[in-house]
Amino acid sequence: MTTHCCSDMTRHVEMKCPDHPVPQNCPDRVLKYSSRFNEYGLVIHDGGSASYSIRFCPFCGVKLPASRRDN
Ligand SMILES: [Zn+2]
Ligand SMILES: [Zn+2]
Repeated sequence: MTTHCCSDMTRHVEMKCPDHPVPQNCPDRVLKYSSRFNEYGLVIHDGGSASYSIRFCPFCGVKLPASRRDN
């Protein structure tokens, strides 16, 4: 269980949609969290799994943890 910066972020990244078991397929889903990379991203609905990684929370403005992905 990961603690996110604020309730808005938690609500978005932990959102479960009954119609779309795969989060990427849900048009209502705009944010995702990767526990593997400790990374937050804006979902890009282009049919693939692309996302823009974000550095700051769009809701409360807090700086998000650095990604563990190798750049
Ligand atoms: Zn936040
Ligand atoms: Zn949905």
